[in-house]
Amino acid sequence: MDVRRKLEILADAAKYDASCASSGTDKRHAGDGKGIGSTEGMGICHSYAPDGRCISLLKILMTNACMFDCRYCINRASSNVQRARFTVDEIVDLTLDFYRRNYIEGLFLSSGIIRSPDYTMEQLVLVAKKLRLEHGFKGYIHLKTIPDADQELTSQAGLYADRLSINIELPTDDSLAALAPEKDVRAIRRTMGGLRVRLEEAEAEKKSAKAPRFAPAGQSTQMIIGADAASDRTILDTSANLYGSYRLKRVYYSAFSPIPDASADLPLAAPPLMREHRLYQADWLLRFYGFSVEEIAGGAGMLPLDIDPKLAWALRHREWFPLDVNRASKEQLLRVPGLGKKAVDRILTARRHRAIRSDDLRRLRVSPGKVLPFVVLADHRPQGSLLDSERLAERLRPQVQQLSLAL
Ligand code: SF4
Repeated sequence: MDVRRKLEILADAAKYDASCASSGTDKRHAGDGKGIGSTEGMGICHSYAPDGRCISLLKILMTNACMFDCRYCINRASSNVQRARFTVDEIVDLTLDFYRRNYIEGLFLSSGIIRSPDYTMEQLVLVAKKLRLEHGFKGYIHLKTIPDADQELTSQAGLYADRLSINIELPTDDSLAALAPEKDVRAIRRTMGGLRVRLEEAEAEKKSAKAPRFAPAGQSTQMIIGADAASDRTILDTSANLYGSYRLKRVYYSAFSPIPDASADLPLAAPPLMREHRLYQADWLLRFYGFSVEEIAGGAGMLPLDIDPKLAWALRHREWFPLDVNRASKEQLLRVPGLGKKAVDRILTARRHRAIRSDDLRRLRVSPGKVLPFVVLADHRPQGSLLDSERLAERLRPQVQQLSLAL
């Protein structure tokens, strides 16, 4: 099989990993001579570097063959898909070739498990090692690690990769046991724990000029949502636990995609993509806005799909509002719908000089429509009746967009 065909198969097989946001887009191309551009460039996706830059990555699997039979996975041993496998040198050459042509700024490499977890991990490490040591590759490398592999191999991976990730896969241990019986949740957590220790050691060693770099972009994980019956609350509890216990940089949420010849244990339809989006918003609130899981997803345990979780919380807690923008603490301001972290920082700086008025909002890059019902300003106080009214929820709910019909 030639490398191009392998690339078609192994880039397509990698698209189920959520860490690159552009992977799930519609297929469009200008091959019929009309227009320009294509969303089908094989294996190229976008991700965010630790400094917030959007970077393009070559996102591929080393192989889509796998000894394991995780029921939700298109690459499982019993799946009837065409298999392919890159050699280490083929991946190295492809990465360098794409890099030189300016198609990519880095590599995102994962793999099915072949022969043994250690063997697979060795091959992944070898790719990164060759790129760095033999070719002086300075681009970004994200390696998926194989949980059951020897810790020493994971430690080696950190010497060459910018980011390492280990997929937790499902929100609960019971779901993992039911849908991926060969996976060992203890091994996954052991690997995450080992990585945390290694990352902390590297942080402490940073002061020494001779200290080797170790996965400077930290570790992340991915959780599939909608393959089991776990509620959003359960998912967010698991995320909060992972962030707290292993100091993960990110938990990625990947909406389950129904696969051909799927097991009867799996749902027939994918969950709404909006659920994935709301979980990302809730995750942000947990990490940067001081909310707890109970506050965001208490009660029914599911996030509303029609409004964002911060607005939903504010509408349930109208006793908190209106908040005086000129007096409220940073923590209080972060809870106002429509005020992001940067806007809050701008407000805190601006109010040192003079009281903030409604006219100032746009200058502070704050959208008045969302914020005004919840705040008091030097020249504004919302009508009490509006804050108490059901009309407020109606007013703030985003307009339903007309979807295009395929005729
Ligand atoms: S180990 Fe990974 S690649 Fe293999 S079947 Fe499970 S999820 Fe798929």
